[in-house]
Amino acid sequence: MKGVVIQPENKLALTDVQEPKIKEDSDVIVRVTTSAICGSDVHAKHGFIPGAGPGTLLGHEFVGVVEEAGRAVKKFKPGDRVNAAAATWCGTCPSCKRGDVQYCVNGGVWGGGEVFGKGLPGAQTSYIRVAYADNCLVHIPDGVPDEQAVFVGDVFSTGFHAANEGNIEAGDSVVIFGCGPIGLGALVSAWQFGAKQVICVDMLENRLQLAKNYGAQVIDANGGNVVEQVWEANKGEGADVAIEAIGSPPAFLQALKSVRRGGTVSVVGLFPAPVEIPIHETAFYGVKIKMGLGSLTKMPKLMGLIERGKVDLGPLATHTFSLNEAMSAYDLFENEKDKCLKVLLKP
Ligand SMILES: [Zn+2]
Ligand SMILES: [Zn+2]
Repeated sequence: MKGVVIQPENKLALTDVQEPKIKEDSDVIVRVTTSAICGSDVHAKHGFIPGAGPGTLLGHEFVGVVEEAGRAVKKFKPGDRVNAAAATWCGTCPSCKRGDVQYCVNGGVWGGGEVFGKGLPGAQTSYIRVAYADNCLVHIPDGVPDEQAVFVGDVFSTGFHAANEGNIEAGDSVVIFGCGPIGLGALVSAWQFGAKQVICVDMLENRLQLAKNYGAQVIDANGGNVVEQVWEANKGEGADVAIEAIGSPPAFLQALKSVRRGGTVSVVGLFPAPVEIPIHETAFYGVKIKMGLGSLTKMPKLMGLIERGKVDLGPLATHTFSLNEAMSAYDLFENEKDKCLKVLLKP
């Protein structure tokens, strides 16, 4: 089978890869029906993701059909349609027992390597081995198409995490920096928490339009002072919650200045380098800073929101390619051609 594999000198290629086999009794083999390209796949190509060097088979956002289940797997059987979390978790380590499965010491995003497209072979291919399958897979209801389900294990769960960590309450004013897939995932989540107003900041017109379609007020970061515009938009009160969904130091500093006294800045963007925090100012306003990655245990709940029509993530999937055309798909995605947001691959 073919798969998207990192090559030396920051290149990718569609090359032959090994078909996966069950290794542990808790494993499942999934026949991939749809995978998505993520910004972090591009980071990995450029060598920015520790543990994902040349030879790594990419892809951690995928849905498919169970082909084979290990002897200890209880919840899944061949033929089941499933979506997987971006990272696996053991369920028994101290982080997992606390419910912070995304920080699992045996899996998790920076844990013992059990991450698709990092320590584990990824999903931009035809078949994938899913470790700890009972923990990390969710069933896809009949009415939910691949094109939405594929976002539950990362885009939606990370956006939801941003809203959840921000402690958004009914009636809150929320500002979101970045209208990429994660920012839009945070936007649809903010409404679920009862936000009264969501203001989205971005520099790309098509992304701002999508945010508008999801009910947000928008600020074009190309024009004027963003922080002033946020304060104007919520009548001089400051946002209750700011979400940073880019990984941009200037946006993070704008987020700090956009919240009211005692407000919360919730960070889910991945930063390329350390950021200096003006703690000598923010401490006097009691600004709370939260950070982290996808609320993976919330996947069944998020799938339910899609099934019941409360959330429609269909508009995020702007382009679909066959796996054979993966290099063209990466070119489009990496260079933000044709107003693309999320690019799907079909084996
Ligand atoms: Zn991702
Ligand atoms: Zn664990």
